[in-house]
Amino acid sequence: MKLIPLPAFTDNYIWLLHDDHHALVVDPGDGAVVLAWLAQNPLVQLDTILVTHHHADHTGGLADLCMHTGARVHGPAMEILPIAHSGVQQGDHVHWHGLSWHVIDVPGHTAGHIAFWAQIPEQVPILFCGDTLFSGGCGRLFEGTPAQMLDSLDRLAALPGDTRVCPAHEYTLSNLKFALAVDSENAALSAYHRACTQLRQQGQPTLPVSLLTEQAINPFLRSRSHAVSAAVKQHDALAVDDVTTFAALRTWKNEFK
Ligand SMILES: [Zn+2]
Ligand SMILES: [Zn+2]
Repeated sequence: MKLIPLPAFTDNYIWLLHDDHHALVVDPGDGAVVLAWLAQNPLVQLDTILVTHHHADHTGGLADLCMHTGARVHGPAMEILPIAHSGVQQGDHVHWHGLSWHVIDVPGHTAGHIAFWAQIPEQVPILFCGDTLFSGGCGRLFEGTPAQMLDSLDRLAALPGDTRVCPAHEYTLSNLKFALAVDSENAALSAYHRACTQLRQQGQPTLPVSLLTEQAINPFLRSRSHAVSAAVKQHDALAVDDVTTFAALRTWKNEFK
């Protein structure tokens, strides 16, 4: 299985997974990007599309791709997409050429947001998490509450640590700037920031990233740690428990320049 981030728009990645014969893509906001890859790889057939949530930068290419390839779309049961899809939710599985994608409900960024996780034979697992978990950050709360998002991130954080986390945006460096402001004594975070800066200077994606790394550096996965919760409390005295701390951290990030 080969995993490829196809860049789209200014900072989206459309993740493509293939076994030299069949491909799936995740959140194709732009169909042309995927069709161009397929044209260069004529032996690979796109047969499946996974969608994490309804935003246009994740769904804009669906109609185009379905028309050209006949691929089947699996997406959130609770959301409306621009094209008919098979709705899936927590506990469902999407079977694809020997893989079984576990569907995880992760509301917060949108009300029906889902993620897909699978074990890959002879490789480490893969998580497609859309706009819920980013490297060094998490999605904005457009339709859900801080309590929901914290719960969703807890669900993702419970997956095996070697999981390759595949978010839909290259937001890493701007997220790390904020993370360093919150969690300034974190040596793993400084080292990760240096490594990601170098990757971006070379024009390389910072993703995928292992879940273990995220647990060490992402303030939104570390909001219960002493370092992060103390910094948040200093910024906002109303942060008194897990949920209010997480909410204050998210608000702080929204306002951070
Ligand atoms: Zn979104
Ligand atoms: Zn997005």
